[in-house]
Amino acid sequence: MMNTRTFAGGLHPPDLKTTGGAAIVTLPPPKKVVLPLSQHIGAPGKPLVAVGATVEKGQKLSEPGGFVSAPVHASIAGKVVALGNFMHPFGVASTAIVIEGSAEPEKPLSPVAVDGLSLPDDEIRKRIQEAGLVGMGGATFPTHVKLSPPAAKPIDSVILNGVECEPALTADHRLMLEEPDKIVTGLKLIMKVLKAKKGYIGIEANKPDAIRLLDEKVKGEENLAVIPLEVKYPQGGEKQLIAAVLGREVPSGGLPMDVGVVVQNVATAAAIHDAVFFQVPLIERVVTLAGSCVQKPGNYRVRLGTPVADFIAAAGGLKPDIPLAKVIMGGPMMGLALFDLNVPVIKGTSGLLCWSAQEASLREEKTCIRCGRCIEACPMHLLPQRLKSLVDKQKWADAGGLGILDCMECGCCAYTCPANLPLVQSFKLGKKVVLAERKREADAQKPKGN
Ligand code: SF4
Ligand code: SF4
Repeated sequence: MMNTRTFAGGLHPPDLKTTGGAAIVTLPPPKKVVLPLSQHIGAPGKPLVAVGATVEKGQKLSEPGGFVSAPVHASIAGKVVALGNFMHPFGVASTAIVIEGSAEPEKPLSPVAVDGLSLPDDEIRKRIQEAGLVGMGGATFPTHVKLSPPAAKPIDSVILNGVECEPALTADHRLMLEEPDKIVTGLKLIMKVLKAKKGYIGIEANKPDAIRLLDEKVKGEENLAVIPLEVKYPQGGEKQLIAAVLGREVPSGGLPMDVGVVVQNVATAAAIHDAVFFQVPLIERVVTLAGSCVQKPGNYRVRLGTPVADFIAAAGGLKPDIPLAKVIMGGPMMGLALFDLNVPVIKGTSGLLCWSAQEASLREEKTCIRCGRCIEACPMHLLPQRLKSLVDKQKWADAGGLGILDCMECGCCAYTCPANLPLVQSFKLGKKVVLAERKREADAQKPKGN
């Protein structure tokens, strides 16, 4: 039996991973893409092109709006037909560039290969930044920022996140099987720029083929190891992964770098390889398409900016006999329900779930019965029931004091709640208000200028 490690708390939702055996299929370029200038955490980018401009595939379309930001690149060649507000998957309108594809056959990118591992560290970071890389597991934090920790926070270990603990998603699983060398090289590049001595790849034990393959790939490399992990949600949360792999606890309000660790997703590692060795920008990604409403569930390499409806159609479309009840971008635990299928696939889109009413099982909200299940399930050791009550009463300072900002919005509490309370929605709102209140208080305490 495989020896596995894990963390305290969490739960075991049904894994629904029916597409793990589906090899990645590359979809043809779409006719149109909608590229939001904000596909990352941080400042939105500033456009570099105007309506009417002709753009090449891979051309940089925006410059970062600050250090914590990332550029966006044209995912198809064509003409810029609009620059304005378009609906974002997050449910708000945001600035996006729309490209209509050229009628000409697509030219491949012309990458110039170098041995990325022999490049100076600054050049590696620069290539990663120029390629617009962000955390592709869904967090979308700009990668170059994570690879530039302050000197006071030395990093000794890098963990690649190959856990993919969200039910239904298998895109990372397929990438580990199909591009293991890129992933291992990506890990080495991250370790090089951070001067980290150890590199780990954490994978849940429900992917034994990926564990075996990557184990084979790192054999003989003393500083690299593949760590099989117990199948438990949210095993792929950064703090849970660090606890499971290294036994270190990231302090409340702290970051992995506070305990000498940087975590990156396996898809990001593969993209780092392409960016550093070939200067290939992030213009496409692998997305799991699943749910009983789709004709051909599977894993698809799709251009960023492809409208969700066009993606579904290109991948075989919907079944005519099963009405679509809900579409989720991401996994069922942390994903976002979509209200508009014209929103685009973006850098953090790991999955698209097209669910029937039965799968969506929309449940009626009841009164809290104080069963305590949410407390048991919370991997951050919070008191979800109490926090919800404080948010409902708008007691923001108390909610802050009880650690609402440590909530990682994993959904374990809501999943386990027999009263079907919308706990995560409450915490999302509560976190926003608590942060805004704290900022307001800090600003009020600043000395006023003359
Ligand atoms: S799991 Fe739901 S019903 Fe039980 S204590 Fe928590 S909020 Fe209340
Ligand atoms: S959503 Fe927040 S409160 Fe609920 S289980 Fe996850 S971390 Fe805990």
